[in-house]
Amino acid sequence: MSTENSPIPHESRPPLTLRDLAALDIETLKGVGPKRAASLRSAEVHSVLDLLRYYPRRYIDRTREAAIRDLREGEEGMVLGTVTRVEQRRIRGNRVMVNVTVADGTGTLAVTFFNQPWRAKQLYEGLSVVLFGKVDSFRGNLQMASPIVDLIGDQTGKIVPIYPQSEKAKIGSADVARWVAEALRRAEPRSLADPIPTDVRKAQGFIDRHTATFEIHQPESMASVARARRRLVFDELFAIQLELVMQQRLRQHTEVGVGHRATGDLTGQMLEHFGFPLTAAQKRVIGEITNDMHDPHPMHRLLQGDVGAGKTLVALHALLSGVEGGFQGALMAPTEVLAEQHALGIKSLLDGLQVEDTVSMFPTRPLRVELLTNGVPTADRKRILAQTISGEVDIVIGTHSLIQESVGFFNLGVVVIDEQHRFGVEQRAVLRAKAKGDKEPDVLVMTATPIPRTAAMTVYGDLDVSVLDELPPGRTPIETKWAAGPIEEASMWNSVRDEVAAGRQAYVVCPLIEASDKIEARSATETYEELTGGELFSLTVALLHGRMTSAEKEDVMSAFRAGDIDVLVATTVIEVGVDVPNATVMVILDAGRFGIAQLHQLRGRVGRGEHASTCWLAGEATTADGEARIEALIGSTDGFELAEIDLELRGEGTIMGERQKGQNDLRLASLRRDKEMVVLAREVAIDLLDRAEASAADSASVTDALSALVDDAKVMLGSTDTEYLRKN
Ligand code: ADP
Ligand code: MG
Repeated sequence: MSTENSPIPHESRPPLTLRDLAALDIETLKGVGPKRAASLRSAEVHSVLDLLRYYPRRYIDRTREAAIRDLREGEEGMVLGTVTRVEQRRIRGNRVMVNVTVADGTGTLAVTFFNQPWRAKQLYEGLSVVLFGKVDSFRGNLQMASPIVDLIGDQTGKIVPIYPQSEKAKIGSADVARWVAEALRRAEPRSLADPIPTDVRKAQGFIDRHTATFEIHQPESMASVARARRRLVFDELFAIQLELVMQQRLRQHTEVGVGHRATGDLTGQMLEHFGFPLTAAQKRVIGEITNDMHDPHPMHRLLQGDVGAGKTLVALHALLSGVEGGFQGALMAPTEVLAEQHALGIKSLLDGLQVEDTVSMFPTRPLRVELLTNGVPTADRKRILAQTISGEVDIVIGTHSLIQESVGFFNLGVVVIDEQHRFGVEQRAVLRAKAKGDKEPDVLVMTATPIPRTAAMTVYGDLDVSVLDELPPGRTPIETKWAAGPIEEASMWNSVRDEVAAGRQAYVVCPLIEASDKIEARSATETYEELTGGELFSLTVALLHGRMTSAEKEDVMSAFRAGDIDVLVATTVIEVGVDVPNATVMVILDAGRFGIAQLHQLRGRVGRGEHASTCWLAGEATTADGEARIEALIGSTDGFELAEIDLELRGEGTIMGERQKGQNDLRLASLRRDKEMVVLAREVAIDLLDRAEASAADSASVTDALSALVDDAKVMLGSTDTEYLRKN
């Protein structure tokens, strides 16, 4: 394996690709035996490529930072020094205290560890360490208690990389640095291949991959870290974008869809019924969807819109456009309550509409919309199923039950999936496959959980995205208040009673309990009992939770809709889409435990009518993050703005997680910090694919260049992720 022993002069061998590096097992490195290899594997480092992508989490600039002299009491600090003394002793309760002294020529620092006896073995005189922690003083001397310790061994160089270390896997920063150095030394003679075309590199001011890989691990200066990072971040984001854009194009080239011939007849009548003019955003988005639907390629579009932006109308427009051309439409909602509500609203909007009848002797027949959930009685269900297959039903509204085996369509042409974050990708695919014949229906996915544009490019990058970024006029903004203590809570309940007295209605959302449906239901029941016996005594209060049967839930919801119930005490089952314009107060108990998106969704249940609405966030925030979330909600009602804040607070892992469970492809890149790079990566991916498509088949060099890039992307994303993207 050693390059030095190779009979072939190294210059003649091609540069190493990512695939080459991925094929080199970690154990082929000098200094990595079976035991170390096992540790590394447990940290998901299997190949030399994994190791080279095991990036430093920070750097220490020996020339500038990290002097003991510069530590400030009461602040966090980082120092690099040498251990000069280690002492271990027993203290009260038979616990062990390890005292260590570290010096660096500018001063000395006392370091203490409680109950970490192994530190006495880990640290010894003469060892170079980096310490990171809060600085106190003890009897006039600087001290750190239980700091983070990085062993940097005998690393030289002005900038010392600090690698993520794993106590459990027994991987220290110095070990990683040594193995990385070995890997780089071995790669040096052949150098690392760079498939990004030179003109792109030049235009973007990127350094080449070889240099970037060396500089991220063994930088000369912090400036060289920055340019290395810039290039490697691009590579990560580019791999994802290339995969997604290719996926999109592949579909465009291979899938055959329906070229809908909408007449505008039904949609026109529906809009007339509706009575309000469309918002500019609705017009724009309807235009985008109509274009997609006319096109014989199947639509794969995501509709992002804040709560209350009027997505339902857009969805209905799409469904009707399909029906106009003689096709069926399906609308899938995440819950029965929501499916039921959609059915009610849509049926009333479409009341009296006639469609062409090709079967009977009459030229037209009434448009048929049917609800198909598990709550529908069996006999009705059977009938609706049969009539869906025969084509007598035009629009079917349902939940997951729509994708059950038994549901077949006559000619499904449009599918709308509401609140997509609740649906798996597989479910989408199954529904799409319900279309008879070889034509794929158009698919519109709607989400009320806005995510920032650049994050959407990564998470939904294989879909076209439309954004409904405008609320219909005449909404009174919702006032959000924090009832952090008993006094504010008292005025909160007062305001609930006042609103009810004025003829309005209220929601009370119970504390979030993730343990189980059952426990959550029990706690909701307790809250309900407490409130009806106390704060909400004498009001008509009802309970809604996930353990109730569909029929029970429907009864409660329709009574609430009818105004027969003053206050609805509920779990998060009401989170999405519930639309009762007369409800003007939302109380969220123990609000600090909910996420931003969830709070925003819940708040969106009020402020839907002509009356001014209030949202109360109750309870102390038990964590700093909880407080930040509450503050964010008070400060903004804009879902996209809140999504940005959410991303800041939670990091990208969770957003990626919505689509890609498990491994996060981003080792170095951050959807938060590297927004411009996401956009750039997508532009470059599109540009390179355009070039490859434009070049004639005889231009082998373009195709070769592209396949090198594609191969890189596959290696970087790992086979499972590639498959995942494939499946969409
Ligand atoms: P979303 O699903 O995006 O949260 P909905 O589709 O439920 O929002 O619409 C919220 C409310 O706004 C509904 O009561 C709907 O009838 C109303 N609405 C939608 N579009 C308009 C419009 N252009 N003008 C006035 N009201 C509208
Ligand atoms: Mg909705």
